[in-house]
Amino acid sequence: MSEAEAGFALPDIPAVADVDPATTDLASLKASQRMKIPRQAMACQEPEARTRNFREVALGFSAEQARIEAARCLQCKTPHCVEGCPVGIDIPAFIKQIEAGRPQEAGRILKAYSPLPSVCGRVCPQEKQCEARCVVGVRGEPVAIGRLERFAGDALLDGETLLPDVAPPTGKRVAVVGAGPAGLTVAGELARKGHKVTVFDAFPKPGGVLLYGIPEFRLPNAIVDAEVRALQGLGVGFVMNTLVGRALSLAELRKDYDAVFLGTGAGLPKMLGIPGEDLKGVYTANEFLTRVNLMRADRFPDHGTPVTVGKHVIVVGCGNTAMDAARCAKRLGAEVTVAYRRSVAESTARREELEHAMEEGIIFRWLHTPIELIGDERGWLREASCAVMELTEPGPDGRRGVRDTGERLVLPCETIIIALGCAVNPLLPRTESGLRTLRGGVVVVDEATGETSLPGVYAGGDVITGGATVILAMGQGHRAAEAMHARLMA
Ligand code: FAD
Ligand code: SF4
Ligand code: SF4
Repeated sequence: MSEAEAGFALPDIPAVADVDPATTDLASLKASQRMKIPRQAMACQEPEARTRNFREVALGFSAEQARIEAARCLQCKTPHCVEGCPVGIDIPAFIKQIEAGRPQEAGRILKAYSPLPSVCGRVCPQEKQCEARCVVGVRGEPVAIGRLERFAGDALLDGETLLPDVAPPTGKRVAVVGAGPAGLTVAGELARKGHKVTVFDAFPKPGGVLLYGIPEFRLPNAIVDAEVRALQGLGVGFVMNTLVGRALSLAELRKDYDAVFLGTGAGLPKMLGIPGEDLKGVYTANEFLTRVNLMRADRFPDHGTPVTVGKHVIVVGCGNTAMDAARCAKRLGAEVTVAYRRSVAESTARREELEHAMEEGIIFRWLHTPIELIGDERGWLREASCAVMELTEPGPDGRRGVRDTGERLVLPCETIIIALGCAVNPLLPRTESGLRTLRGGVVVVDEATGETSLPGVYAGGDVITGGATVILAMGQGHRAAEAMHARLMA
């Protein structure tokens, strides 16, 4: 955001000042003093050590650091940061509570907008959303809103013993298909309003991508498990290992329940479509990450699912999923190369993830894309022939395309992980002809309510947008839950 957009010009910022919350009355600090406080750095495991374990890399703020960081917030009367948050969290209000040393109160403010603050504080693309709009960022570094959210969310997880108020039973039954962030949001909100909610999921454990996609070193499973336990405490039932559209039809759910929510995500991987993709050693990122994160293949044979990782691994793509796959493969002992047909400027991965991957020794081959996978006589992948690409001039939309230079490079690899994004799984639209979808299979919903073309059936999250973000999925879950409640009580 520019100064013009912020609506005022900021004064020059003098040198950094030290603030000790133990001896300074933070509330009395003037804006000019607050702006001298440097953004607090978050401790991380050292790269050398962390590539040998799956424990969380970023370790969070200490209580003291959190109060100092909170004191950087100017408590703007028109907080532009809030405009950058897809669910409109009252950011100055929760930060003020942290500054005052009341992190659980901050957590309760967050919970009014987002059911999973510990999750969003860790994985939200803050630098493109709330923090991108923070006025402090006009001249210096923005307030670390995401890290403060993580701190407050964790304080609530550690200390919360009281369950939120639950309305008396309404006698209405709701089925939620998909236990990812969208479905869990709907389940929590409707259970609190007194409805009997049952969540169905094809996987053995609830959490969706939070559990099987995003690795432990970014988002510990214990956080997702704690949130699921809180939902069970509200009376939400979970029916796992149940693929709706096969084991149970959508029509059956519509008959047995008063309303249905579809939060089935976008889990159908895109492939390269090149020769050799059927060789042994070729994984989609979804399969690879599910084996490692959900089935704990890193602990094979103590856990039943193996994963085969060669000495050389190539990950194709450069979004968050690619970074997660590359860093998992690194932790399994491989030499990992990311091959991306564009340049670093076009990567959609969070900057922090890219930096962490680079620190961990992952090799990046920008402007390279595999065009043929070559195997040995036993059908195992041996090497990948890559085309060297170049960027074209920006088109009318400002985006740069790529073209093949004709140059080739053969890279050794026994494992390749394809991370090119995912489409919506066509199973439900195929088995329920009345469910309207667009190209790519995304389910069409009413903008205001999230209701699909089937009356009483709502949808939200990646199934209506294609692959997006956790906070957007939760925001759409919130929208649908409000509309479903209104319908159920009409
Ligand atoms: P999902 O989380 O996909 O959950 C859908 C659930 O539905 C799954 O559990 C699935 O088993 C179940 N399901 C599907 N079909 C059926 C069926 N027919 N019957 C029963 N159950 C079914 N976003 C961020 O904001 N930050 C990040 O850092 C980030 N990193 C990511 C890393 C990876 C590896 C991936 C894959 C995604 C990442 N995302 C990230 C995107 C984010 O995770 C998704 O946008 C979000 O999880 C979508 O939530 P959802 O509830 O719509 O679906
Ligand atoms: Fe920022 Fe995401 Fe939190 Fe909103 S949910 S305040 S965008 S970190
Ligand atoms: Fe203002 Fe930034 Fe604080 Fe938001 S986080 S209220 S934009 S200083």
